[in-house]
Amino acid sequence: MKALPPARLGLWAYALAGVALGVHSVAASPPPLLPTCLGLGGFLALGTAGVFWPERGMYGRLLWHGPRDGAEVALTFDDGPCPDTTPRVLSQLAAAGVHATFFLVGKKVERHPALVREIVQAGHQVGLHGFEHDRLFSLRSSAHVAADVRRSQDLLERVGAPRPALFRPPIGFVSHFTVRGAEQAGVTLVGCSARALDGLRHASAGAVARRLLRALQPGALLALHDAAEHDDYVPASIAALPQVLAAMRERGLRPVTLAAWSG
Ligand SMILES: [Zn+2]
Repeated sequence: MKALPPARLGLWAYALAGVALGVHSVAASPPPLLPTCLGLGGFLALGTAGVFWPERGMYGRLLWHGPRDGAEVALTFDDGPCPDTTPRVLSQLAAAGVHATFFLVGKKVERHPALVREIVQAGHQVGLHGFEHDRLFSLRSSAHVAADVRRSQDLLERVGAPRPALFRPPIGFVSHFTVRGAEQAGVTLVGCSARALDGLRHASAGAVARRLLRALQPGALLALHDAAEHDDYVPASIAALPQVLAAMRERGLRPVTLAAWSG
């Protein structure tokens, strides 16, 4: 059995202390107000941090890196498919002979099914990224999460893609409900070891490339975008990608799809 992540142990320790305080207050005297408020505030802060940094594993494990002792790295692209920008990523990957993993948004898959088939036929892996790219996804119930995953899986199968078993929740936040919903639907949750932060409208390609090059080491799972959330601008990754692909070659790193790491 694997050791529990420290973040989850911390949350449990906090919860246990809260229960002990409650029992004490019933059995003896009411707890002092200030420590109680500080304790409650700390508990809420810790629980929220776990949602924002899911790689700490507070609510469950997710795939966020590969073996650190090999030479493999994985590029992932979110928020597509988009006919204006995804082909620009596909052509760069094809020229470099690199395969990647694309986390697709269901409603965009409905609009561009031929582009999904093009991604699959080029040898890339496809995963799920929410049907609507709902930004409040981490607040949704586990039943909602499971239904969203299955709806997106059904759609991808209908348009000719293999049924995806990987799920990166919209904006990457993961709550207890997200983890339970993913378990119900039988998919693996995916995070990343580094974000390109290229999905911001005014991100600079230079800054994105520098950030990714710093993170580019064995086992790196890099999160980029092949499309803007609302298809209204070009993500900076597209201009940064040549530098990333060149650095992978120079450092002798071997790009893989997440099929290699998700077993
Ligand atoms: Zn996204």
